[in-house]
Amino acid sequence: EWTGLNDLRSKFLKFYESKGHIILPSAPLVPRDDNSLLLINSGMAPLKKYFTGIETPPRKRATSCQKCIRTPDIENVGKTARHGTYFEMLGNFSFGDYFKHEATAWAWEFLTRVLEIPKELLWITIYEDDDEARDIWVNEVGIPPERIIRMGKEDNFWEIGSGPCGPCSEIHFDRGEKYGCGRPDCGVGCECDRYIEIWNLVFTQFNSDGNGHYEPLAHPNIDTGMGLERLACVMQGVDNLFEVDTVQRIMGHISRIAGVTYKQDASKDVSLRVITDHVRSTTMMINDGVVPSNEGRGYVLRRLLRRAARHGRLLGIHKPFLFEVVDTVIEENKVAYPDLVDHRDYIVKVVRMEEDRFSRTIDSGMELLNSIVDKIESEKIAEGERRLSGDLAFKLYDTFGFPIDLTREILEEHHISLDEAAFGKLMNEQRERARRAREEGIGDVSWKDDVLASLDHKTVFCGYAAGECKTRVA
Ligand code: ATP
Ligand code: MG
Ligand code: MG
Ligand code: MG
Repeated sequence: EWTGLNDLRSKFLKFYESKGHIILPSAPLVPRDDNSLLLINSGMAPLKKYFTGIETPPRKRATSCQKCIRTPDIENVGKTARHGTYFEMLGNFSFGDYFKHEATAWAWEFLTRVLEIPKELLWITIYEDDDEARDIWVNEVGIPPERIIRMGKEDNFWEIGSGPCGPCSEIHFDRGEKYGCGRPDCGVGCECDRYIEIWNLVFTQFNSDGNGHYEPLAHPNIDTGMGLERLACVMQGVDNLFEVDTVQRIMGHISRIAGVTYKQDASKDVSLRVITDHVRSTTMMINDGVVPSNEGRGYVLRRLLRRAARHGRLLGIHKPFLFEVVDTVIEENKVAYPDLVDHRDYIVKVVRMEEDRFSRTIDSGMELLNSIVDKIESEKIAEGERRLSGDLAFKLYDTFGFPIDLTREILEEHHISLDEAAFGKLMNEQRERARRAREEGIGDVSWKDDVLASLDHKTVFCGYAAGECKTRVA
């Protein structure tokens, strides 16, 4: 089937190769020589050195399919049709070579000629002041002006702090009324999944001083990104990313273990999709060298695995099972990432160890948390004032291994907040104790390392893209 995920990937890369691009392999998820980023979250992230001029690219035109992790999207996963914490991003890049004319013409050619997507299903957004892009879309590509929507900075201008930046133009696919929210103002840009954003073309043409002053770049760049699973989703006409050919086989494995049939119960479907996503992201992260810990990328990994384990419980699975699903993830991804096969035993072992560890405490932790939630709910406290104490949150973390974000999330489901200040204080005290124990040379080394590591949450949620950086624990 030529719309298969693997076929679409190679079609894209070959198309840009035919336009003079060098095909670059996906970089590992752990950034090299880049402390600004926890995990690679776009095709352009590992190529920054070429855009900034620190290094010379092998060619001025490049194309890639890049593995990406976006933890900030975690709460959307399984609920929207279009978000995963793991996905692959197709992209074409110009390092001071071609610019808007070619980038738009080729994107259109790929979608409408190579993939034969009917033009009437595609909509274009541009940055509101980018008349140049508008003229190209209308006069060179032939898009009717009424299908081009002007959007503000928030949506269609790419910048982070100071440095190279510029307007974007995005291509959206109309999946039809059945996916719409039905609101009268539903249209491109609506949060519902009818007009699904598939491709972002970034025209890096300015240098910003960070204070609102933009200087045109002598050699503007092109950076584009299209989600491979999203493209496969619209090409295969399925409801969401998790029903795409290769991904759906992973979900099928989980359904079998759980004895749950997909599409019979909406909340079970969310759990199936969440687990599918999280086993994908964690398998790929471990393959690229991340190990579970209480800090940084290790924390991201631990949080995803434990969140998946909790959703397993929601499906009625009461034994370790994620490690078995790893095999299917490897099977479905080995064409593009053959190193997964070499690392199979290692990945399975890491997942199994983490699952075993958490499974010793998850049930008693859930019991404790459920009883607290019941108590708070029975006390009929006003919505805004329901709060879990720092002590209990800390106990769940320290004794039962609940990543604090997992506790927060379960609380949010019941409209209960968390005493963040008290929790933060307990975490600091624990750090202090661990520091003293280290100085005095007492205690178990791995315990201390674990505890120490647990305290630096500052960078955990920092994505590269503007606006995606959240500090959770002070
Ligand atoms: P959205 O508005 O749907 O969250 P985005 O604007 O954040 O997407 P970009 O940063 O423009 O996405 O990334 C480029 C492309 O990568 C998107 O057009 C989309 O196809 C894909 N993409 C982005 N985030 C995800 C995700 N969480 N899961 C799958 N694909 C994604
Ligand atoms: Mg997004
Ligand atoms: Mg968007
Ligand atoms: Mg976008």
